[in-house]
Amino acid sequence: MPEQRVPQADFGICGGSGTLSIGTAGSLPDERVTVLADRLVFDTPFGSSPAFTHIRVDGPHGPREALSVRMHGWRRGVKRADASLQVFWVFHEAGVRKVLADGGVGSLNHLLDPRDVIIPNDFIDLTIKQDIYVRGDHLLIMRQPICPDLADHLHAAASVPFARVFRRGTYLVTDGPRFESVAEVDYMRRLGGDVIGQSLAPEVFLARDIGACYAGIYIVVNYAEGVIRQWEHGELKAIFFEESQTIARCVIDTVSAADLDAPCGCADLRKPSLLDTPEE
Ligand SMILES: [Zn+2]
Repeated sequence: MPEQRVPQADFGICGGSGTLSIGTAGSLPDERVTVLADRLVFDTPFGSSPAFTHIRVDGPHGPREALSVRMHGWRRGVKRADASLQVFWVFHEAGVRKVLADGGVGSLNHLLDPRDVIIPNDFIDLTIKQDIYVRGDHLLIMRQPICPDLADHLHAAASVPFARVFRRGTYLVTDGPRFESVAEVDYMRRLGGDVIGQSLAPEVFLARDIGACYAGIYIVVNYAEGVIRQWEHGELKAIFFEESQTIARCVIDTVSAADLDAPCGCADLRKPSLLDTPEE
């Protein structure tokens, strides 16, 4: 039975494949995390939402609340773009100001190895999702798509448990869910992508559409096809299972420590739209 009232929360967490084996960052066994409500489903203009977990995170700034969703809201039978719209509609209703995401990615850059962690500062969207907006009434400037303040906190959190953490890099987004061919990977590498994955867009611009900051933490789980050597399914699976709690802890650390009023400049990159498009 869908809930009608969306609880208020400053943080939205798009749990991805990086935390899949534990559910979401909200499922982390951590004394700072209290689950306030689970399996919350809401009616949205884009269909029934995926299930959210409402959590409280205790930390130096006092208690903070977050709405957390598994696997970006992806479910069988629901298009990924629709799932993203449902998730971000709920975040908007909740008054979310900061969105955090995680995921596993393939490496395009020859300098990266499995278990390296990257907090990208830019992206290339090769997906064919079109006209994806929750509000659609603002000009969304992508000069600085990733919030530098959230990225700094993710980087600080990840630098403790992980040997190699990169603070810069370009995330190339594809539709998936299939992997890429060798020729596609070669093309994408030459476009300038460092890692390849399926989840940074449309989230990154839906966050800006609702006026929230966005940053994500991604763990390299495989070499993309034709890069370095063939990847192994066993290694990919091991990374997902072994590192999911560590990735989730980095997300929770960031919820706990981030400055809600950081002078990050993200809000200035969303301007009133100049297009006055008539309704149909
Ligand atoms: Zn920001």
